[in-house]
Amino acid sequence: AGSRSTRLLGLAMALFLSSITMHTSDPDVGSSLTTLDLDGHLSFHDVHDAARDFGNRYRLLPSAILHPRSVSDVSAMVGHVFRMGHRSGLTVAARGHGHSLQGQAQAPGGIVVRMGALRGVVETAVHSGGESPYVDAAGGELWINVLRECLKHGLAPKSWTDYLHLSVGGTLSNAGISGQAFRHGPQISNVHQLEIVTGKGEVLNCSEEENADLFHAALGGLGQFGIITRARIALERAPKMVKWIRVLYSDFSEFTEDQERLISAEKTFDYIEGFVIINRTGLLNNWRSSFNPQDPVQAGKFDSDGRTLFCLEMTKNFNPEEADIMNEEVNVLLSKLRYIPSTLFQSEVAYLEFLDRVHVSEVKLRSKGLWDIPHPWLNLLIPQTRIQDFAKEVFGNILTDSNNGPILLYPVNRSKWDNRTSAVIPDEEIFYLVAFLSSAPSSTNENNLERALKQNERILSFCKEAGINMKQYLPHYTTSEEWKSHFGHRWDMLVRRKLSYDPLAILAPGQRIFHKAT
Ligand code: FAD
Repeated sequence: AGSRSTRLLGLAMALFLSSITMHTSDPDVGSSLTTLDLDGHLSFHDVHDAARDFGNRYRLLPSAILHPRSVSDVSAMVGHVFRMGHRSGLTVAARGHGHSLQGQAQAPGGIVVRMGALRGVVETAVHSGGESPYVDAAGGELWINVLRECLKHGLAPKSWTDYLHLSVGGTLSNAGISGQAFRHGPQISNVHQLEIVTGKGEVLNCSEEENADLFHAALGGLGQFGIITRARIALERAPKMVKWIRVLYSDFSEFTEDQERLISAEKTFDYIEGFVIINRTGLLNNWRSSFNPQDPVQAGKFDSDGRTLFCLEMTKNFNPEEADIMNEEVNVLLSKLRYIPSTLFQSEVAYLEFLDRVHVSEVKLRSKGLWDIPHPWLNLLIPQTRIQDFAKEVFGNILTDSNNGPILLYPVNRSKWDNRTSAVIPDEEIFYLVAFLSSAPSSTNENNLERALKQNERILSFCKEAGINMKQYLPHYTTSEEWKSHFGHRWDMLVRRKLSYDPLAILAPGQRIFHKAT
């Protein structure tokens, strides 16, 4: 085992890229690609959009964009690049909705596959019969469209992200975490089957039963092992409405103890999240303003008095005819919580409206020119045994306010994650997603971006110095040592899978884990 491991690590080092290499456009590339017989088309001119993402900080121009009209277009393109071997430095990046933060869906000098072009070609098909309904969706389909289609059948996927204008393939390449993950696991725990184009250009179906290693590799696999062209996703009956509740705490221990009790209880809410409010004033709080409590007067009157507050956010699904029973259950659950009594804010909204809540904020921020700006986000998974130490330093010392964007903080449980997937999580049964969702509007007075990046650095340095065994979610690293430490004992498995499914390191170069040797 020792020599196998050394061999794998040797190969990994050969593949590894420790800094970004910008390939220049090669005229031969264009001519070789135009020989391909495609249902869709390639474009060589309008490549600038593919060099942008939500993070708005990295811009690496590709040589060409593939607009596929069939899965075989994707397979033909990747197969062609594979057969060119080391003669070309070409790489291929699937681009879902381009909501990455640091160029992960970009391919410097390579080919970007616009996965959205397969929408409609690969149809969203809901299978509502039987005990375990599911939907087949294109990898480039947006979750909002998947939801709309499923709702026509009274069904919906079980596990979500907070924002639905993201692609199926994009979130499944990470994990897909939201307030339902404590019940159903992340989105990658709710997939039955995938159709994948590997880094050799093969089209393979995979599931627990068929090509199981590839199936698990691709889930949370940062796009390293194949391009997901289709996913079969588990569904449940969709409720018509949700009761949406927010309560505030000033004591962090009470807040997290209540969160943990709720996620571990048999009878509980359907969605549980939380966020941190530090000395908050600014405009960007519009981010989550779709919540409209029934008693806005009371909500407006509450004075935080400069304290750091912790907001617990929960929902309970219901259909209108069951409203009384739902209210009774909610009251029982609320009676066991230790929030500040005057801070119970409630609302009732349609299920779709709740799930699509961040889009409301997107529309508002866009109208103020505050959407297409740099987003120096930092997402961490913190083990439960260290969350108090983390909070004390980060919310007590490092951060002076939460005006740059929301800070989410909520627990999930490891037992709902499948350790055969590529997702990397802390080694404890309960861990917290802590998401610093900063925006950095340009301002004449201060460099918001630099300030936010420095703050992120301080948080990461603190975790290191305090020996907090956290993992980054939506990870971003620049050195081989950091990637190896991120994957820990799973690094060998990652390298083995890379050599099996994408041996030339063609796919998802923007993650900067492996480098195509030329
Ligand atoms: P892209 O940016 O297009 O791609 C991401 C990576 O996946 C790239 O490496 C790309 O090459 C690869 N990829 C894309 N499509 C495929 C495919 N079909 N097959 C294989 N690889 C592929 N995440 C959460 O878990 N929970 C949240 O609540 C959440 N909220 C968010 C809110 C906002 C406003 C934003 C911007 C992001 C949020 N995210 C959240 C993060 C989000 O899940 C990831 O950034 C995700 O990758 C975005 O999907 P995308 O389609 O834009 O991916």
